[in-house]
Amino acid sequence: MDKILRVNMGTKGIPRITIEPIGAYAGLGGRALTSAIVSKEVPPASHPLSGANKIVIAPGLLSGSIAAMSGRISVGCKSPLTGGIKESNSGGQPSQVLARLGYAAIVLEGKPEGDDLYTIFINKDGVKIAIDNSLRMLGNYDTVTRMKEKFGDKIACISIGPAGEMRLPAASIAFTDMELRPARHAGRGGPGAVMGSKGVKVIVIDDTDLPMRQPKYPDKYKEANKIFVEGLLKHGVTGQALPAYGTSVLANILNEAGAYPTYNFKQGTFAGVSKISGETEAALETERGGVPSHGCHRGCVIRCSGIYNDKDGHYLSKQPEYETVWAHGADCGIDDMDKIAMLDFLDDNYGLDTIEMGVTIGVAMEAGLLKFGDADGAINLIHEVGKGTPLGRIIGRGAAVTGRVFGVERVPVVKGQAMPAYDPRAVKGLGVTYATSPMGADHTAGYATTANILKVGGFVDPLKPQGQVELSRNLQVATAAIDSTGMCLFIAFAILDQPETFQALIDLLNPFYGLSFTADDVAEYGKKVLTMERDFNTRAGFTKEQDRLPEFFKTEPVPPHNVVFDVSDEELDAVFNW
Ligand code: SF4
Repeated sequence: MDKILRVNMGTKGIPRITIEPIGAYAGLGGRALTSAIVSKEVPPASHPLSGANKIVIAPGLLSGSIAAMSGRISVGCKSPLTGGIKESNSGGQPSQVLARLGYAAIVLEGKPEGDDLYTIFINKDGVKIAIDNSLRMLGNYDTVTRMKEKFGDKIACISIGPAGEMRLPAASIAFTDMELRPARHAGRGGPGAVMGSKGVKVIVIDDTDLPMRQPKYPDKYKEANKIFVEGLLKHGVTGQALPAYGTSVLANILNEAGAYPTYNFKQGTFAGVSKISGETEAALETERGGVPSHGCHRGCVIRCSGIYNDKDGHYLSKQPEYETVWAHGADCGIDDMDKIAMLDFLDDNYGLDTIEMGVTIGVAMEAGLLKFGDADGAINLIHEVGKGTPLGRIIGRGAAVTGRVFGVERVPVVKGQAMPAYDPRAVKGLGVTYATSPMGADHTAGYATTANILKVGGFVDPLKPQGQVELSRNLQVATAAIDSTGMCLFIAFAILDQPETFQALIDLLNPFYGLSFTADDVAEYGKKVLTMERDFNTRAGFTKEQDRLPEFFKTEPVPPHNVVFDVSDEELDAVFNW
């Protein structure tokens, strides 16, 4: 992983391919690398869909090696949804494949003059670009099928659906899983729209005949990986709950905590939760011949993913994640698991962020466009987005724009990005993360549910303002570092609780690169990433006024605890004081 592939789509004639040494970006991977390139090379005031913006796709520092859980991938750009810097993280196979091909990053830059659609094929022999307008407005599933017909099934794909081609700010980039389903997505912040603006429909990668990346000190690396895996498997969340029930295991837990946002964040409990919980999902999957436990990439040992079949036992979608089930479920008052799985499939196929779409439909329901609980109406709305009707193009611009168009006051967004599945009034640590993350409202940026609700890594009362800033700060710093390694964020449960598992993570980094990192060095690395991201946002015009939750969270108590968000502005402004 010592080279960067640049594809300039803005050159006359065919796009220009450059393969260059990693150079000044050496030592950076995943989020650290995407944010460094965007921060240094993209003018902060530029239009996100202009030739000045770039899409950076980067495996993590440990991706492509034997390290368990190391196959996450980072996508960076200036976000068309937030207007700020974006790192959107995805699972799937491409991280491992790209790393073994030796690329620290793919950078798509410039903007083509015409409206041709391009495919990019990368294998050990080099890079080929071709025009293929027959893929126009194809869904991600059909696009991948066409790539399989052309290149065989030893490939991995990175693609956009019609939403990306239409440059909608809710558009995702799809990454194929181990079975070549385009079911893992860099969804947050609209990176699919930026890839669409570059005219690139799909990047096909093939690592046939290429070995795993080798560490500098293989024996130490192997030993650290063994301890790391043992730690993951013995922890209750990573070794039992997530593999058995998937991420939706959180539904009952958040509902019991009164923090499960329902009917567009009006209350913290949902009467239909048992019909859409992880336990119900897993039972349905098993009964219908699906799979309740599945890894989204080679080397995942937690295996929180799964396969969701329809009533006739045919594949309907991958197991919808907790956030998706909540966004299309409780937030919209929908408790029909099959309809939610259909919405998940449609989002994946059209190439849309499931959180943004669910929350946007909740806002549309509040506006009276359709009724809470109207699952078929929600499905129709997603089809409108995928087809690009005028209404669909409004919905596809996300919750903030939809709220403005339909005159809704209660719109749960920060920096223009829809809020995920934890009410910030009842999980206040996450409220701090939503408010202050450079990414906009993003639970993964500093997942305070750990200490607030799950009592992992200590306990901070979720209903009180005390201790939330420190909790969010520490998690945001740690997350920025983890997102740079290529490790799945779910390792956090085990490394926060078990010092030896945290040490094993550091002991993976050190022998791989011949470093002598300490825990403090890892924290410094995370701080540098956050500082870089905040600096970009400042230059893009963001001030502390954007590090705030919408007003209604401060004035409207959420039942059943009847609490408001009461972490003060002064405290929020202290999150990044280091
Ligand atoms: S734990 Fe889940 S999200 Fe993480 S790598 Fe495994 S399957 Fe993917």
